[in-house]
Amino acid sequence: MMKFTDSDKSFDLFSDHFDPTPRLKSSYMPIWFIPFNNENNCSNCNCEYSETTFFKQKYCEYCIKKFYDNNPSKCLDIQISTNIKYENESIKNIEFGTPSLQKWYFKQIIPSTYSLIGYDTFNGEMIECEKNCNLCGKFMIISKYNIKLTLCSSCYLISSGWIESALTKVPIPIFYLPWWDASDQCVACDKVLEFKPECLKWCLHCYIIYTGCRYCLTTNIIFGITNESQCRKCGRIIYIVLPNNDGN
Ligand SMILES: [Zn+2]
Ligand SMILES: [Zn+2]
Ligand SMILES: [Zn+2]
Ligand SMILES: [Zn+2]
Repeated sequence: MMKFTDSDKSFDLFSDHFDPTPRLKSSYMPIWFIPFNNENNCSNCNCEYSETTFFKQKYCEYCIKKFYDNNPSKCLDIQISTNIKYENESIKNIEFGTPSLQKWYFKQIIPSTYSLIGYDTFNGEMIECEKNCNLCGKFMIISKYNIKLTLCSSCYLISSGWIESALTKVPIPIFYLPWWDASDQCVACDKVLEFKPECLKWCLHCYIIYTGCRYCLTTNIIFGITNESQCRKCGRIIYIVLPNNDGN
């Protein structure tokens, strides 16, 4: 089972439950309209993914519309380049992909590495509205020359802990990230990850496993081999079966 270190407990915001994104809700149903491994086609409807103008984040136009029709909870943090304050209702009524809404992106999705290059060329419009966190309003950016994919440190909480290795039975570190890592490259070695749909990928070069929770858009990164990975927001467990060492 999951083991958290004592230091993790000091992060607890609400009773004994740590919530990595306290101002966002978990979705009632899985968020299928974004890839976990930079794939080209939607795993739900098989349509080719669209891309946001900023960061080239992939998403399915068809499935995101369907999602908003059926899911009223505030589970997404979308950055729009106007001064529209984020509300699910206002997003629901906007046609994704239309010219009027070209300048937006998902705050919660880390895209593939190449998409992050060139963000410095973004115009002042986006920079202006990024000054404050969509969720709590906190002022985030101090220098206009220091623009990155910035997340509010009060609304997106990183934590870590230890779980037991399935191989050696010793504790191995796990990072609980409050965002969705959609990249298909390993964070440590840049090699292309092996992907097992829908929300499991790994680098057998580094022995790093990545799991995603499609209800919360969180990512766990595990530095070793383990059999399961639990979302720290909703508690759902992803079971991990890695290929044998006999080739594949
Ligand atoms: Zn789709
Ligand atoms: Zn915030
Ligand atoms: Zn690696
Ligand atoms: Zn979850």
